Parts: sequence; structure tokens; C-alpha cells
Amino acid sequence: MNAPAKISPATLSKLAKLGIHHRADLLLHLPLRYEDETHLAPIATVQPGSNAQVQGAITHSGIAFRPRRTLVCRLEDNGGELYLRFLNFYPSQQKQLAVGKQIRAIGEVRMGYYGLEMVHPKCRAVDDDTPLQQSLTPVYPTTAGLSQPILRKLIGNALETLPLSDTLPEALLQRLHLASFAESIRLLHNPTPDIAASTLEERSHAAWRRIKFDELLAQQLSMRVHHRERSKRIAPTLAPHRQFTARLIKDLPFALTKAQQRTFAEISRDLAQPHPMQRLLLGDVGSGKTIVAALAALQAIENGYQVALMAPTEILAEQHYLKLRDWLEPLAITPVWLSGSLKKKDKQLAAGRIASGETLLAIGTHALFQEQISFHKLGLAIVDEQHKFGVQQRLALRNKGTDANSSSSMKLNSNEPHQLMMSATPIPRTLAMSYYADLDVSVIDELPPGRTPVITKLVSDERRDEVIARVRAACVAGQQAYWVCPLIDESETLQLQTALETFQLLTQTFPELRVGLVHGKLDNIEKARVMAAFKAGELQLLVATTVIEVGVDVPNASLMVIDHAERMGLAQLHQLRGRVGRGTAQSLCILLYQQPLSELARARLKIIFESNDGFAIAQQDLQLRGPGELLGARQSGVAMLRFADISADEDLLNYARQVADELLRDFPEAARGHLQRWMANKHDYLHV
Ligand code: ADP
Ligand code: MG
Repeated sequence: MNAPAKISPATLSKLAKLGIHHRADLLLHLPLRYEDETHLAPIATVQPGSNAQVQGAITHSGIAFRPRRTLVCRLEDNGGELYLRFLNFYPSQQKQLAVGKQIRAIGEVRMGYYGLEMVHPKCRAVDDDTPLQQSLTPVYPTTAGLSQPILRKLIGNALETLPLSDTLPEALLQRLHLASFAESIRLLHNPTPDIAASTLEERSHAAWRRIKFDELLAQQLSMRVHHRERSKRIAPTLAPHRQFTARLIKDLPFALTKAQQRTFAEISRDLAQPHPMQRLLLGDVGSGKTIVAALAALQAIENGYQVALMAPTEILAEQHYLKLRDWLEPLAITPVWLSGSLKKKDKQLAAGRIASGETLLAIGTHALFQEQISFHKLGLAIVDEQHKFGVQQRLALRNKGTDANSSSSMKLNSNEPHQLMMSATPIPRTLAMSYYADLDVSVIDELPPGRTPVITKLVSDERRDEVIARVRAACVAGQQAYWVCPLIDESETLQLQTALETFQLLTQTFPELRVGLVHGKLDNIEKARVMAAFKAGELQLLVATTVIEVGVDVPNASLMVIDHAERMGLAQLHQLRGRVGRGTAQSLCILLYQQPLSELARARLKIIFESNDGFAIAQQDLQLRGPGELLGARQSGVAMLRFADISADEDLLNYARQVADELLRDFPEAARGHLQRWMANKHDYLHV
């Protein structure tokens, strides 16, 4: 057996960027695609548009200056000729490609000015007897400064030196008709030329199925292990006394919907358990999650425990603060407000009240889980729009219950807070099964009564004037409207500039209206002032960037124009549209789009036009974009599936779910081995 290759520190840090931390991770770093260097095509037979490897002698080599400085070489074999062109080249390359040299070139063939050509082919000097590759050449995902040959060598070495033993019992593999791990992994790194490239590329080959199954299984196992661990941890028992919750329900100006009652009952039951709750409250925009959160908070408060309610933006956090202050004031509960923008003195004051336990409810932004903040007795952490938070932030909040002043010997008695997460990003069932198997999920599946569904119109930019007339008419008639500025992904400065210009333009267009502007760069006091003015009806038109995307609640606003809607994602459009249709008036959302539309943009606009149902939209979004983006997985750290695709591999997911239970019950050693192989360094990041 070969000795493991020595890896330099520079290479190690590049590998780390690819998520490769252990040598065993190299095994699971699988090719994106393959190049076929196993045979030579006679030049006379190659077709434009195809990839080919050819070999011949250089019979011309020179520099052309028009239209650009280009190295042009003619390669001839016995029956044909083909040109190799290089736009950027080094003197050494020119020397390598001198007349008379024998060259093997691989690349895409196309029809060019001189005839058949390859632009920037991969070339090497060969002799008549230089052997061909025996297997397809893998092309790996990589990062700057880490070449394919180095990666290939490291992975090749890992394949030779590391054990590839199967983690799964033989009987199980047979029952599910799965290939062995060693065979699959070897094949994917070095497929023989007889394998149809399409089955590799589409990942339908048996070897791919085995790897995808393993990945899904590891995820299922890890969730179950987490679930078990959670049931061993200790949280305060927050029994429902109903002294405050019943009062609040009685005092509300509306009756709770059935769905609100049911979801609160589920949460209430969890809180009364001595183990930490980890529950996700899912509900479409406007379904009324806030009141459910308030009731959960009250149940903790009734038991003398503190509650932290955290929202991802200052606007949203403040809205929660104001709303809960109104609701809870009659119960003599005064929430404390904490955000990064508070003056230092006020922040210290708030922190002091939280640390002493004088206040039982703290509401704010991520400032709540910064290090300086310690809770006296945190019983429940509520995170609104949880997908907007990073995994580290959620971990930090969870640890607030345990680390505050408690020595490690008291750990067993120390309390981990219960967690309630809320999200309006509706997650299709398959996705929830896969990602949230260890979270309990409550769904608010009905809207409060009396809402009229928002009407959505798609309007081409050419008819902008009509839209402007419509906005004027609505505002003059006493309604309020949002004008959402175009999204500019590349640059925050441009985004801001666009918002300012839109504001100016609309202020001039509507001299008779009071127009406000809110955007992310506005300081918080100003932001709050504008929002308050809009809410109070002092402003009739609010020009806004997507900062209003999450949670903003102004029931009298019934018209929304989304400028350049074609640039926005589906979830974002649905969230934005959810800002209207909150009162009883008929609401309208106008999606202004600019031609020509890309295929993806057209598909998105069609979906949002046809459906008002967040869950249906999310299901379609999953098909358009894949799960990673939908969940914002990249920033949330939710274990991302690298290989399996839950929309395409639902059958494998179902097997994985069954097998996970079976393995943990009957083959715990195998389960451990499997987790070790797949999750060695990812464990902490799963589902906090
Ligand atoms: P979201 O689920 O999007 O966070 P909110 O909690 O902001 O929704 O609620 C949206 C609006 O509906 C708020 O104005 C809220 O007071 C109101 N609301 C909540 N529950 C009900 C109900 N059962 N009946 C009538 N209105 C309700
Ligand atoms: Mg909300």
C-alpha cells in the first residue's frame, strides 16, 4: 500500500475551502463531470460542437494580430487538419507548439475562420507510444490555486490508502438493490470508458444512487441522533397556568383562528415538558404568527421565566415590540427593547434589566444574543423569520440559558431555553421531512377571516403611465400604497441610488401626495419615524427597498407596485405581496416587468400570478431552484445535500427514512460508522 501523500499547509487551507478537512473527505469529493481521454479521434471524423481528443504534428505556428493577438497553430494527422487558437499565451506555450512537435489536444471543436478549430484546448507534447488514459478523466469542483492534477493525485492516493469498507450490512444492500460503497466510489472517481457518460452526468448510474442514498441516510441518522440527545437535555417545565394567556385571548379584538388555537396548544404542551422544545411555527404571510408567539411568551412568563424575542431587522423587531407592549400592558408586563442602534447608555440599562431578571420579556434584533447580554433565567427564545439568521446566532441564543453564571458542575440543573422558530417561508412537505426531521413543526394553515385575496397583475414597463395613474387614484381615494424599488444584486450603492432616484421621481410625479422613503441604509430612528408616519396614515405612498419584505404590517395599505419584478425571486415576491391584503379592503399587487424576460423570470412571474398560496409557490420554487437556495441553506448552515436532490430522489429519501430507524435499532455500530464517514465534522452545524 502506498503511504499517504504529504500535503502542504497551503494546499490544506485550499482543501478546507472545499469542505475537505480530513483525508477521508477526499473520497467524497466527487467529480462534476468527466473528460474522455481514453481514445483519439481521427481529425477527419470530428464534428463541430463535440468534444474530442486528437493527435498530430504541428505544421504551422504563428501569431495573428487581427482581430486580437492570437497564437494560431495548425495540427495535422494522417487524414485531416485542425487549428488551435490561444488568445492569451505564454512564450513557453508558443515554444511547446512549435512546428514539428507532436501534440495531443483535447477540447471543444468548432467551425472557425480557418476551418475546424479548438480555442484554448488542453495540449501536451507526446511521443508515438504515449499511452492513453484507461478511464474517463474526472473534473472536480475546485478553488483558485488548486489544480485538477493536484486534486486528482490527492484523491487517487486516498482511494489507494484509505479503507473503503462498507458501512451498511450486506443484507440491507441486497434488499434495496444498492451497489457496494467501494465499488461505487471507485467507479465515480475513475469510470471506465464503456459507461454511458449520460448516466454519470445525470447522476442516475447505480454508483450515484448508492452515494446519494448514503448521503440522505447520514442526514436522517444525524437528525434522529439529535432528537434523542435533545430528549436527554433539560429545560424548565413551563406548565400552562393560563392566568395571563387566558386574559390576553379574552382582551384581543379578534378571535383566534382554529389553526392559531391548535398551534398554540402544541407549543403549550411542549413547554410543559422538561426537555427543550425545538419547534418551527410555519405560517404563510399574514396568517397571524405573532399572537401565537405572544401566547407562548406569556406561558413562560407565568412561570417566572424570561423570554427573548428576536427578529432579523430593526423595523420588524420594533413592530413586534410595539405590538407586544400594547397587548401585554394590561397584564402589567413591560417588554424591554434592545437593538444595536441604541445609545450605549440605554443599551447598558436594558442589559442590566435583562441580567437582573427585572424584565421578563426582551425584544430586539440580533443584539440580544451578543456576548455582553446575559439572562437571569431564560426559559424561551423565540426567533422570527428564522431562515434569516445564521446558525451561529441561533446557537448563541440557545446557549444563553446555560452559560450565564452557572458553573459546569451545575450543568445538569442549568436550563436550556425552549426554542420557538417562526417562518413564513413555507416549506414543501418533502423538504420539511428531509431538513426538519428533528424539529417539530406546527403549521398555521388558514388565514384570519375577512381577508380578501390580493389580486395580482402583470404589467409591462411600457404601460408604466397607467400604473402611475392607478397609484394616484388609489391614494387620492384614501388608500395607501407601497412602491418597491428594483433590486440590484451587484451593488448596495447602486441599490441605494436607485431608491433615491425613484423617490425623487415619484415625489415629482405626485405633487399632491405625501411620499415617504425607507431603505436599508437609513438610520434606525429615521426608519422608525417613516414607518410610524406611514402606519399612522400621514404618508400615502411609501417608496421602499426590499427592507419591507419581512413582516411589516400596515393593514390600510392595499396597493403595491413592484418595480422590475422580474429581478426578484419567488419567495421574495410572495413576501412582498404579503404586505398588502392585511385589511378588509380589496388589495392589488402590480408586478411591473421589463422585456425581454428570461425563461426563469417568465416562469416565476407566471407562478406568482397564478397562485396566492405560499405552500404551492414554495413547491414550484423548489422545482425551479433546488432546495439549497430555497432554505437560504448557505447562510443558515443547514446540512446541505451535495449529491442527492430531494425533488428527483424522493424514493431514496423514503428508503433512507426507513433504514435510519432500522439501523439505529438493529445495527447501532453500522449507524455510528456511517455517521462518522459522512458527518465527521458537520455535526455541530445541524439543526440548532
Ligand atoms: P404573520 O404570520 O405574517 O407574522 P401577523 O402576526 O403579523 O402575521 O398578523 C397579521 C395581521 O393579522 C396582524 O394585523 C394581526 O393582528 C392580525 N391577526 C392575527 N390573528 C388574527 C385573527 N385570528 N383574526 C383577525 N386578525 C388577526
Ligand atoms: Mg410575522
